[in-house]
Amino acid sequence: MFEKFSFRRRLFVYIFLVFLVFTLIIIVFQFSREKKYRVHQLDNTLKNITQTIQNFISYNNLSGKNNYILIDSLSRILPQPDIRITVVNSHGSVLYDNFVDDITLMENHFYRPEIQESLYKEFGTSIRESATTGEKYYYYSRYFGEYFIRAAVVYNIEVQNYLRAEYVFLMFIIAIFLLIWIVLDFITRKLAESITRLKDFVITVRRDEDFDTNQSFPEDELGVIGNEIIQIYDNLIKTKDSLALEKGKLFNHLYVLNEGVAFFSKEKIKILTNNHFIQYLNIISNKLSVSAEDFFTIPEFDPITDFITKSTKEKTLDLFENLPSKEISINKSGKYFKIQCIIFNDHSFEIIITNITKLEKNRLIKQQMTSNISHELKTPITSIKGYLETIINDPDMDTEQQRRFIERADVQANRLTDLINDIVILNKIEETGDFFAFSDVNVNEIIDDVLDDYQNMLSEKNMKIELQLDDDILIYANRSLVLSVFRNLMENSINYAGNDCKIKIQIYREDESFYYFSLSDNGIGIPDDHLSRIFERFYRIGSDRSRKLGGTGLGLAIVKNAILLHKGEISVKNRAEGGIEFLFSLPKKQ
Ligand code: ADP
Repeated sequence: MFEKFSFRRRLFVYIFLVFLVFTLIIIVFQFSREKKYRVHQLDNTLKNITQTIQNFISYNNLSGKNNYILIDSLSRILPQPDIRITVVNSHGSVLYDNFVDDITLMENHFYRPEIQESLYKEFGTSIRESATTGEKYYYYSRYFGEYFIRAAVVYNIEVQNYLRAEYVFLMFIIAIFLLIWIVLDFITRKLAESITRLKDFVITVRRDEDFDTNQSFPEDELGVIGNEIIQIYDNLIKTKDSLALEKGKLFNHLYVLNEGVAFFSKEKIKILTNNHFIQYLNIISNKLSVSAEDFFTIPEFDPITDFITKSTKEKTLDLFENLPSKEISINKSGKYFKIQCIIFNDHSFEIIITNITKLEKNRLIKQQMTSNISHELKTPITSIKGYLETIINDPDMDTEQQRRFIERADVQANRLTDLINDIVILNKIEETGDFFAFSDVNVNEIIDDVLDDYQNMLSEKNMKIELQLDDDILIYANRSLVLSVFRNLMENSINYAGNDCKIKIQIYREDESFYYFSLSDNGIGIPDDHLSRIFERFYRIGSDRSRKLGGTGLGLAIVKNAILLHKGEISVKNRAEGGIEFLFSLPKKQ
């Protein structure tokens, strides 16, 4: 029941009770003091009476005459009314009693407590009911050698009298009591103010309602605590807000990430995940609807799940310890994934799934490239070596033959140079494309340069050139790469199209940003099933023929990469009327 009381009420009751007990103790103490005082007063009065009677007895020699009845005359004139006077001889026989008519009927009084006590003390007292009158009496007895004189009065120094007598004192106590009540009420109200405010604050906060953090508490210790709590709460709210902001940023970051990321609690319950994570789970598990928690049931992830189970069983990690992590790779439906898991100090953990298909494919392409390059390099080197060895081993070889072999070795050496140059260009475009210097380039000049270079070959093969270009076509590009684009395409047409063909270069469209070029010939064209692959490195249709013609199989790969580096596009198609047509775009001068 006390629990239901407010703090103020309880404080009031406690202090009030303490005060009440204190007051009661004072009253009891005061009462007993008063009682003692009154008994003492009574003793004095009775002492005087017994002494007076003793004086009366010895003055009138009543003991000698055994005429105690004369005491009656004295007892009547005593100032105190209703005093019972008894004279008892030293053996206990009653010699006189003003309240009893026939004393001979009275029993022996020797063993009355007050008589006994007065034997060895100055006087003896006792309180008890009188067998004669049935009232409560206060007996006082003194021993005078031959007899005891006993005086008794009705014992009425009771509380009523006392209370009546101490009326002022009681009024005073009650007044103090009321005053204390009012003061207590005020003090407890004051003391409880901070607590009440704090209670209001806590309730408001719990209900998620707005609380005016500017209000201040009284300037006592509780008030200071209250102000501090509000300050802490205020900071907490600010921290919570900034944390929410950071969390929001993190969320947004998670959603734009290409990686699938998920955070789990120690109990393997999802805390946070992004869409990619679920998508990757779909792909890897081959199931359409999966939740983040399904991760732990997908067999492909068993090594990670086992790792988590093992790691989370171990003791809590030290804050500065290296976080345990595990990484595995999965190849599923032609896609490659890297799965990483990091266990945090509190045993919650993060799982990151990265789609490394592109990287993995690039790695495989590079691997293939390296083996292709070494294969391509081996061919000319083997022939050069063969020619030179033949010459060395046959010192008698005639000069004519020797010269022919040296010339062939030289052709192979040139081929080797071309190959290496092409590989270098390709690598440069791929690895350090950003370092190519861009400037305004005049396409007409480039085409003129290329035509000059191939003039002889063109006339040898009786090939014609048709240009449909305005003057001064200016593009924003890297000159040597654009030169290499036109050189490669033109050389291919000269090499593969066939004699008496025509090569046509035109700008078929332009927009705000790009010129759209077409370079076509009316030669043999490319079989359709090869078309999609001719931009691949080292891809050749008739590899022997291409090699014989000095082709490296890298020409179109360089063309494509160079165009892409300029943010243009390139495609190829067989023309309906025969021959092949390359369509590509290059950025206009800015
Ligand atoms: P290469 O160094 O062998 O010329 P490219 O990458 O330049 O390598 O060309 C790839 C293949 O495409 C060539 O081997 C050739 O068979 C074919 N090709 C390229 N251009 C033409 C064309 N204009 N006409 C016919 N075939 C062509």
